[in-house]
Amino acid sequence: MSQQQNSHASSPAPAPSAPLRQLIRSDQLMALRQTVLLSMPVNMLLGLISTVVAWRSDKLAIALVWLTCSGLVNIARVLACRIPVQRLAAALPFLRERHSHRTDADSVTELNLRLHALLALLSGIVWAGVPLLCEGYTAPETLFYLTCVCGITAGAVTHGFAFARIPICFITPPLLSIIFCLATIDTSTTRVALAAAVLLYLAALIRGAKVSEGLVSHASALKNEATAANQALEVAHQDLHRFAQKMQYQAEHDLLTGLLGRAGFMEAAPRMVARQEYALCMMFLDLDGFKVINDAYGHEAGDQVLIEVARRLRASLPEGATLARLGGDEFVILYALAPQAEPPEQLARRLIAAIRQPFARLAHRHIGLSLGITVTCSHDINEMLVCSDAAMYQAKRRGRNQFCVFNDALNAHLQMKRDVERDLADALAQRQLEVWFQPIIQHDGHTLDGFEALLRWRHPRHGPIAPPDLIEIAALAGLSEELLRFIVGEVGTMIGFLQARGRPDLRVSMNISPREMERILVDELVAEMLRSQQLPAQMLEIEITEETALDLQAASQSLVALAMLGVSIAIDDFGVGYSSLGFLRQMRVSRVKIDRSFVTGLTEQTENQALVAAVLQLSGSFGFQVVAEGVESAEDLHTLQALQCHAMQGYYFAQPMPAAQARQMVNAPARA
Ligand code: C2E
Ligand code: CA
Ligand code: CA
Repeated sequence: MSQQQNSHASSPAPAPSAPLRQLIRSDQLMALRQTVLLSMPVNMLLGLISTVVAWRSDKLAIALVWLTCSGLVNIARVLACRIPVQRLAAALPFLRERHSHRTDADSVTELNLRLHALLALLSGIVWAGVPLLCEGYTAPETLFYLTCVCGITAGAVTHGFAFARIPICFITPPLLSIIFCLATIDTSTTRVALAAAVLLYLAALIRGAKVSEGLVSHASALKNEATAANQALEVAHQDLHRFAQKMQYQAEHDLLTGLLGRAGFMEAAPRMVARQEYALCMMFLDLDGFKVINDAYGHEAGDQVLIEVARRLRASLPEGATLARLGGDEFVILYALAPQAEPPEQLARRLIAAIRQPFARLAHRHIGLSLGITVTCSHDINEMLVCSDAAMYQAKRRGRNQFCVFNDALNAHLQMKRDVERDLADALAQRQLEVWFQPIIQHDGHTLDGFEALLRWRHPRHGPIAPPDLIEIAALAGLSEELLRFIVGEVGTMIGFLQARGRPDLRVSMNISPREMERILVDELVAEMLRSQQLPAQMLEIEITEETALDLQAASQSLVALAMLGVSIAIDDFGVGYSSLGFLRQMRVSRVKIDRSFVTGLTEQTENQALVAAVLQLSGSFGFQVVAEGVESAEDLHTLQALQCHAMQGYYFAQPMPAAQARQMVNAPARA
């Protein structure tokens, strides 16, 4: 049975692949190098004993020749096992297959195996010379020699289990020589029977050698497959580990600046905080004017600025501080206020100064930095973030390059926001919120032009909540859309009333914050209201700030849709932000509302009068109307009238009032 059949018998595995076959061969070579060395002493000893026996029967001369041959072959076999396989293969060009140019491991192993087979054959041929010592197995010492040769061949098969070719090469010549002698010299029945038995013995040994090689190579295949699987697993494991590390780095770091990202910070900060015995300082940093840079110079320049900002911040950090980019132009610093640590105010000034330095990419433009600082012994990172963020907003309200330390007043404000956030949903559901209306008056100072809708809510504990806070908190609570729906509904009801009263000439304006514009499909919501209540779009006006107007990306689609409906667009708080005349023209803005900081006390401030005059002058060519907000005195009314201001709004005429009261104004004679 062939070796392949054998391995099939013990396992249904398919024939091994070429690389696996090579590994098996190399295992076989290693095993055979060991077993040949093991068998050599026995081989030599038997050779020596045979020589002694031959000497006793007067055949010393031939025995010595025989022993010398045997010794030489055995030395060669030992050397073949001792010399490194590579070196040996290089010295065996005559054993190379013809046309084979392989120099790989495969051919090295094969050459070694061939050499061993050749030497085994030579050794076998030497042992086939034993009949010379016993006259063809007829001398009285025949029993000794027969036993000796049969024993050594059995031993060869036992030792040569790894690679059948070696024992087969070794045993075939001596056993054949026995068979030949027994069958041809002095042919008695016993001798012929013995020859047949030896032939059978030879066949059995050959089969045994092949079977054990089959088993060995199968075991080797299993071992090598397991090793290969292990190695593959190891490689896969390492790959996975590297991949996981990379993913973790990417998840934890901001790839633009190389700083920790928000997630990384939320991981690292608690670890850092846990080790601290001192109070901690967290600084919330936000760049001033970064958005404008991004718009004016492009995002690529914006990215470079952020990288440079990160570099400067890193260079200014106190020892042991953690710096992270939370997103956009927001950064955070966390450090322990150990006794020798830099005081937060001093660090804040240093950071502001570092960012104030000119940026190479931004000719003539500077970037500012607003900082919110919180110092606490609490280990709650989220709480620290909320507090330092609130302080940062307070700093922003004071202007550029300011810092603010979180204090009791901010804490109370934060508490108020939390309570409102908690209660807002219920208040909305129970319709506790209201929309009030403030009249807008025409140039003559008494004719009603329309109303501005203003949100009102009196919190049971905190009293009236400023509408901008309400809008912001609603966004935090995920209630923006619900709130806007409510306001739009109230505004619709008011427009419905005015229409029913036969006053379609009056307009109701409502405010939409940049955030609402960005997150809610305002146009769809408004269109739905107008359609369902069958109201003319011309009676509605949307007030947006210059900030919203500038952020064309987010706003333009919705605004265009609203303008297409016939809704008027007004620019609110004009003068405090960045004016975009292009936008005024592009959107065909119908009104510009001058911020009350320019209007209240206008009579005494010639600069503000100049501004109002300039806006009024523009209005002619751009085709919009001008509304002055915050008129609080008769003098200011008269000044505005002298400047030919189209419309006015302010406490002088009327404060915002509940809808029912506003409705009565529509009935009343045309003087507010
Ligand atoms: P705004 O759009 O500039 O609204 C005018 C604000 O000025 C109102 O404050 C109004 O009460 C106040 N005001 C009116 N006349 C005078 C005056 O003569 N002197 C002074 N000192 N103030 C006057 P209010 O209602 O507190 O609203 C503040 C801001 O909240 C509004 O500023 C507007 O931006 C926002 N807001 C109000 N209601 C809503 C709303 O329903 N939705 C959105 N998104 N924002 C709203
Ligand atoms: Ca407004
Ligand atoms: Ca305003």
